[in-house]
Amino acid sequence: MNVPFLDLRIQTAEVEAEVMAGVQDLLKRGDFVLGDGVARFEAEFAAFCECDHSIGVASGFDALKLIFRAMDIGPGDEVITTSHTFIATALAISSVGASPVLIEVDPDTYTMDPSKIEAALTERTKAILPVHLYGQPAEMVPLLELAKKHGLKLIEDACQAHGARSDGRRAGSIGDAAAFSFYPGKNLGAFGDGGAVTTNDATLAERIRTLRNYGSAQKYFHDELGENSRLDTIQALVLSEKLKKLEGWNIERRAAAEQYTKQLCGVGDIKTPTTRKGAEPVFHLYVIQTKRRDELQEHLKAQGIDSLIHYPVPVHLQKAYSSKGWKKGDFPQTEQLAGNILSLPVFPGITDAQIETVCESIRQFYEKNVETGQAQLNF
Ligand SMILES: *Cc1c(COP(=O)(O)O)cnc(C)c1O
Repeated sequence: MNVPFLDLRIQTAEVEAEVMAGVQDLLKRGDFVLGDGVARFEAEFAAFCECDHSIGVASGFDALKLIFRAMDIGPGDEVITTSHTFIATALAISSVGASPVLIEVDPDTYTMDPSKIEAALTERTKAILPVHLYGQPAEMVPLLELAKKHGLKLIEDACQAHGARSDGRRAGSIGDAAAFSFYPGKNLGAFGDGGAVTTNDATLAERIRTLRNYGSAQKYFHDELGENSRLDTIQALVLSEKLKKLEGWNIERRAAAEQYTKQLCGVGDIKTPTTRKGAEPVFHLYVIQTKRRDELQEHLKAQGIDSLIHYPVPVHLQKAYSSKGWKKGDFPQTEQLAGNILSLPVFPGITDAQIETVCESIRQFYEKNVETGQAQLNF
């Protein structure tokens, strides 16, 4: 049995009829950009995130960038984040002229290690930017304390964590602001690009609303140098329909993760994902660790099972950042993760049989090895 890494057609089919009806209606109304559908989705998404405001923007990258702009974070400023993330996190910091200052993640939970913050602080530090990576919420309580103690903003990169909770609180409602991506493969994905900022700060929300729309609160009056980063009404219609299903889809992801963990526990040298006490993850990705990652991935591929590596090159070793002078050895835990991690298929609609196929194939891979080991022992 072939197992794809992700099958979006299952989700699409669940909302297709409602979305098409919504689009037909939109064609008659014609409010294609920032229409009523956008305002409606923003209200629904804020309610889902249990926070006061949500502002639809063009992408997750733009959501981060607009948060920095609205907080006046720019040239000369530093933002602390992790090297183990999707590069957009760091690129958004660089895009406003600020500098990403990288630290390690906790290698068990894959999220920011709060004990590494104080050593990274300088006079120029303006914000801490934890990433709820793979849908595992970062440990926010110590980060909130550190931000308060040092007068820093706390910004969540929640692009992989729609619906996760950290100590009871929804991702996106904990820090001063949060960025979400609606890239199609995310837990809540549009039929194209999209993103949102969430915040409980009314002033910040208003500034982001203005910045995303050419710096204009009133048509043709421009109070600052804004940009065009608006959410299309069509995407908002898609997102409204999908949002109704998200809780159920996240439950499916968690159930799939539980099944993997049960079946893979104790197999070979596999380390299954650790969920911190108080964290309620949404398993955007299910990521295992093994020293034999490359061999295992080859083995799975030969049997028609897709897997991916998120991410093979840490931010500090990306060519785009070669001018920073970061080098191999700067973040050993992150580098070790990059060599050992493997993401297994997980998506709403994945079947028990598909999960069983993946696990059986993984068991086979390690059993072959155990036999060799025993043969050696016999001599
Ligand atoms: C997807 C993602 C982004 C960027 O979102 P886009 O919508 O692709 O711009 C940022 N950070 C993380 C952690 C992501 O996974």
